Amino acid sequence: MTAIKTEALIIGAGPVGLFQVFELGLLNIHTHIVDALPQPGGQCAELYPEKPIYDIPACPEISAQQLIDNLLQQIAPFKADFHLQELVTELRSQENGRFEVITSNGTRFDTATVVLAAGLGPFQPRRLRLVDADKFEGKQINYKVGDKSVYTGKRVAILGGGDSALDWVLELADTCAHIHLIHRREEYRGQPASVSKMRELVSQGKVTEHYGNISSLLTDNNKLSGLKLRLKNTEEKNLMIDSVLVFWGMSPNLGPIADWGLELEKRQLPVDTEKFQTNIPGIFAVGDINTYPGKKKLILSGFHEAALAAFAIQAHLDPDTKVRLQYTTTSSVMHQRLGLKED
Ligand code: FAD
Repeated sequence: MTAIKTEALIIGAGPVGLFQVFELGLLNIHTHIVDALPQPGGQCAELYPEKPIYDIPACPEISAQQLIDNLLQQIAPFKADFHLQELVTELRSQENGRFEVITSNGTRFDTATVVLAAGLGPFQPRRLRLVDADKFEGKQINYKVGDKSVYTGKRVAILGGGDSALDWVLELADTCAHIHLIHRREEYRGQPASVSKMRELVSQGKVTEHYGNISSLLTDNNKLSGLKLRLKNTEEKNLMIDSVLVFWGMSPNLGPIADWGLELEKRQLPVDTEKFQTNIPGIFAVGDINTYPGKKKLILSGFHEAALAAFAIQAHLDPDTKVRLQYTTTSSVMHQRLGLKED
């Protein structure tokens, strides 16, 4: 596949990566932005979309998802190219000073600069940590549904209490032989409407709810045949099942970033506080992934870092031109870049 040539590639579409698009856009630098998740928003969208945030300047209260929606609206004029559900697996310096970046889908970039806005690293599904579980992963134990017809006529255990677990209970209930929904307690984190629909399916006998934990896997001739449950009331129970779907959410992990030759300090990237550049010139790091004296992992710190990194990237791309600071209120150049009509 021919490489996509760009001046700036952002790895991570969390709040800070999104604001990096804006700050680079104001300086007329177009961006490509890659994220392993299917949606932009990083931790805000993945971990706490409904929770209100109270320390975003000039927003007394805003839900994490609304913050992301506002950022997406704010960066829209700059028409960044999004590459979602693609994990960046390789980053290599080239002899000409540019970088080659490759994703899990085989997309290749040839970029002059890289901004790592990778937060705590790519999110991985929280795994079922039981003896022999790894032997069945990708076969009878899965963390996402690919082809849902695989579950037709099967007894399926769905683990979790959030929206993903409930959505898949609703989606698969008509075609599975039976669904066992296993959650550690009676209260679900998912949408109340989904909980009501799930309970209707329970009353129709298509779904059974179990409150408790799985203590071990039951196997028969090297195949997973069931689960041993320890219920909340301490009773033990064996369930015969064909497949398990685990929806315990995602946890971050530094992942491939650790292999790119970047200096690391306690799983973070040390940067200077003028340019937010890493030990490799041309590779910048903003947001939760970086560290420097006094660093605080806050969204507002990441926004400041993105603004200064943008000026440093501009200087890296064009060292001979001095960039003047312009106000978005008064600069006609900025208005043009923002797609505003002049009076
Ligand atoms: P992230 O939001 O972590 O986004 C990084 C993105 O990079 C992720 O989407 C990830 O998938 C992607 N990525 C990583 N590696 C790769 C790769 N190799 N390839 C492709 N994609 C990759 N902060 C506040 O300021 N105020 C608050 O009130 C607040 N409340 C919080 C509440 C909770 C429950 C949590 C968990 C955090 C809270 N935070 C709060 C912290 C805030 O969410 C983070 O500081 C912020 O999300 C950091 O943004 P980021 O863009 O640097 O990284």
